[in-house]
Amino acid sequence: NEDVVPQAAEDPLFGLMAAYKADSFDRKVDLGIGAYRDNNAKPWVLPVVKKADNILRDDPDLNHEYLPIAGLPEFTKASQKLILGADSPAIAENRVISLQTISGTGAVHLGGLFLSKFYSKTNPNATIYFSNPTWANHNQIFTNVHLPIDTYPYFDAKTRGLNFDGMISALEGAPEKSIVLLHACAHNPTGVDPTQDQWKKIAEVMRKKSQFPFFDCAYQGFASGDLNKDAWAVRYFVEQGFELLIAQSYAKNFGLYGERAGCFHYVGPARNGSETAKRVASQLAILQRSEISNPPAYGARIASLCLNDVSLFAEWEANLRTMSGRIIDMRKALRGKLEELKTPGTWNHITEQIGMFSFTGLSEAQVAKLRSDAHIYMTKNGRVSMAGLNTNNVNYVAEAINKVVKE
Ligand code: PMP
Repeated sequence: NEDVVPQAAEDPLFGLMAAYKADSFDRKVDLGIGAYRDNNAKPWVLPVVKKADNILRDDPDLNHEYLPIAGLPEFTKASQKLILGADSPAIAENRVISLQTISGTGAVHLGGLFLSKFYSKTNPNATIYFSNPTWANHNQIFTNVHLPIDTYPYFDAKTRGLNFDGMISALEGAPEKSIVLLHACAHNPTGVDPTQDQWKKIAEVMRKKSQFPFFDCAYQGFASGDLNKDAWAVRYFVEQGFELLIAQSYAKNFGLYGERAGCFHYVGPARNGSETAKRVASQLAILQRSEISNPPAYGARIASLCLNDVSLFAEWEANLRTMSGRIIDMRKALRGKLEELKTPGTWNHITEQIGMFSFTGLSEAQVAKLRSDAHIYMTKNGRVSMAGLNTNNVNYVAEAINKVVKE
């Protein structure tokens, strides 16, 4: 009955998508979607992915057998190198354990499950802290595995940048051995990342308090267009000797959203890490087996081909630069038009924020008005998906924002 299984609230993002779809206005704009769109507002199959797809189709030996429990070995190995660097000592010292997962969501979940089952044993009531705000699913995923959750301040509404002091004092105030979820780059939903110096300070505080880092990496290469630059924070923490977890998604950077290609990594501590890693691997295999038995093959095969072939890899990097470059152009165009229109307020944050999203600072009422008057759809916190902008609609969007801000 209703007390046992009450009606759940609709997922706000999916509600937004449905409303956009049902709108028949011809200049409607979707700024809610968390997926890349080309300049014609269409999904973009990366040319390198198309190429890999053709190679797979022509392979007479390809079959539909199960993958191993931990996934396609050449995929998980290449994934380690991509996030940690090909010359990572952690890889050389056999301290890294990797399992292919159901995209980034599956990796976050597997990490949460592992922490809940094992980390909580010696650290009962260890809380996982994530940024306020964060990707909405973090809250649900960690709650589902019964990890206590809490938040640290992150976004400064006044500067529309990082509330660094707030974040640091929250970490200093959090109990020792707390788990801290960090976005590796291109923070969702704010588009605000710490600088390298700020990352160093975060690591210093976490080291002092023996806190446990869990990196969520859903946008490597998509943020700056440079795969190494986007992995800097993760590599720095590994260099500092932290034992840590990484959830890696290939949804955005390969455009493999629905194929669910992702990877989970455990990096053992600098001392005795390989011995620990072996035990961790044995337990992760059991968790994976009971959750999904074995991961889906197709997307991982595509990614694996591109990651392991020098020329396909170079082509992938070029495709990444096409996506990140177009988004940067749209940031410039939106800011430029708002400034040209003398829209009240400052708009430098539009070009300073990075990745797919921007926290515009628009109020809930302004967001509602943009939707009812101009058929422009975005989440009510004022988050804009930059990928929804293109040369055909960016002036229309700027003019509509200008109007609601001036009203
Ligand atoms: N983490 C963050 C911060 C994200 O933004 C996303 C994608 N929206 C994910 C994880 C996981 O996405 P997926 O499961 O599609 O890889």
